[in-house]
Amino acid sequence: MRAESFSETIRERLGGETITFCYQCGTCASSCPVAKRTTDFNPREIIKLCLLDEKDEILDGKSIWLCCSCYNCQERCPQKVEIADVIYAVRNIAIEKGKVPNIYFEFFNAISNDGRIVKVSQFAENKRPQLGLPPLQPTGVDALKKILSTTGFDKFHLKKEEPQ
Ligand code: SF4
Ligand code: SF4
Repeated sequence: MRAESFSETIRERLGGETITFCYQCGTCASSCPVAKRTTDFNPREIIKLCLLDEKDEILDGKSIWLCCSCYNCQERCPQKVEIADVIYAVRNIAIEKGKVPNIYFEFFNAISNDGRIVKVSQFAENKRPQLGLPPLQPTGVDALKKILSTTGFDKFHLKKEEPQ
């Protein structure tokens, strides 16, 4: 039996269904605010590599994590490729394989331990009274932990890759 190609795997995922409609016009890349900032990211190139079944290049690279989900590309694609959603589908595949940038594990730990994605510094806390703000209240993380556990998200931090 023929092995399923990477693009077929993506197409079967929620969000990935439209990937094969792409005819590489480049409208997405010219609409993308991230691609304007860095040559490390180009949505047309991501779609192309997926269609060419360059699975390792996509899953081992960082580019899929640079999309900021603004949906500019998706609004403008003449082929109605749901590019941002395709990227989410590819990210989900990467997450299942434990190929996740370490920053996301840091976010995960910060959310599950403190209920905040960024730890509030003592400096910022000290500034609050000067700005007329009340002291920060502790966040309740029990409900959050239940959601992370019910969705299975808490399992992924166990696969953290060590820095090379
Ligand atoms: S705008 Fe649509 S058709 Fe054009 S390259 Fe991007 S995804 Fe492909
Ligand atoms: S959704 Fe992602 S790929 Fe599309 S324009 Fe925005 S940053 Fe670029």
